[in-house]
Amino acid sequence: MGSAASPYPRLSLVVPVFNEEEAAPVFLKTVSPILEQVCAQLGRGAYAEVVFVDDGSRDGTLDAIRNTPVPGVTVRVVRLSRNFGKDAALTAGLAHAQGDAVVPMDVDLQDPPDLLPEMVRLWQEGALIVNAVRADRSSDSWAKRRSAGLFYALYNKISTYPLTANVGDFRLLDRQVVTILNTLPERVRFMKGLFSWVGYRATEVSYSRPERSAGETKWKFFSLWNFALDGITGASTLPLRIWTYVGTFVALTSFLYMIFLVIRTIIFGIDTPGYASTMAAILMIGSLNLIALGIIGEYVGRIAVEVRQRPLFVIDRVETVNDAAQTADKST
Ligand code: UDP
Ligand code: MG
Repeated sequence: MGSAASPYPRLSLVVPVFNEEEAAPVFLKTVSPILEQVCAQLGRGAYAEVVFVDDGSRDGTLDAIRNTPVPGVTVRVVRLSRNFGKDAALTAGLAHAQGDAVVPMDVDLQDPPDLLPEMVRLWQEGALIVNAVRADRSSDSWAKRRSAGLFYALYNKISTYPLTANVGDFRLLDRQVVTILNTLPERVRFMKGLFSWVGYRATEVSYSRPERSAGETKWKFFSLWNFALDGITGASTLPLRIWTYVGTFVALTSFLYMIFLVIRTIIFGIDTPGYASTMAAILMIGSLNLIALGIIGEYVGRIAVEVRQRPLFVIDRVETVNDAAQTADKST
């Protein structure tokens, strides 16, 4: 915990906002006494900041933030030039947050600030990541819960770094983790995927997800769909590469089918002229196409991985378990 740069522990909340003039003041008012409590918990000199990322709001969000007095809490706003989407906004916020611990949060209080003292306590005890798990999602619609469930199941089947189900962007990240996130150069930023890609052992706290405090959800069906596509294509090349195997399977079964057709023709004679040969041609060309697509997929998949330029590994820490020089000193 803590960093060498500042002697005092610092906490940053990163809050993307898009047209949230109603919710932003409510958020600030709710969060500021909790932040004071957290600062007291962190000890003398501790400091908390709220970094809003204004994701191209077209309403009075900025003024609403400016006009809400919050003594004892530093509030900064990173304004984006237009709406770039929540994940881009989060990326901007993570890059600007100065804290030793950084917590991305929604402005609508669906990520309850009451959890902050507990999350910070776990961080003080040494956790590098503290996930806030939604134990109860009954405030989301049935369709949203169901599609989210399917998405997590599919994602975790095909990705090498599983997402923890029911964890949103609300989590505490140590500076060490934020630094790595900030170095990932990829353009399509599915933050949940990146959070889990980084690794490290995560500690959990659970909560039940409340309703939105004010305003309405910014997500439409298609943005969720595209979000899911970003997530899956960012985590796996399986959808590209699967076609070689599908093609091979089709080729094998159609080969058996062709043998069957030939034998049937030999024994029973021709009932529909040209049927056997046409089928044979269609099946063969079809499966050849699939196999060829799959081979191209293998290359495209590798290009996709190379282009993302993620680091090859992330080091948790390096330990000297036994120092030969020192052991030698002691024994002489
Ligand atoms: N948000 C954003 N840019 C967008 C859409 C949403 O910064 O293009 C912010 C929004 O202001 C809120 C958070 O992302 O702070 C979560 O949005 P919302 O509550 O609408 O999503 P939900 O909770 O319904 O998934
Ligand atoms: Mg919300």
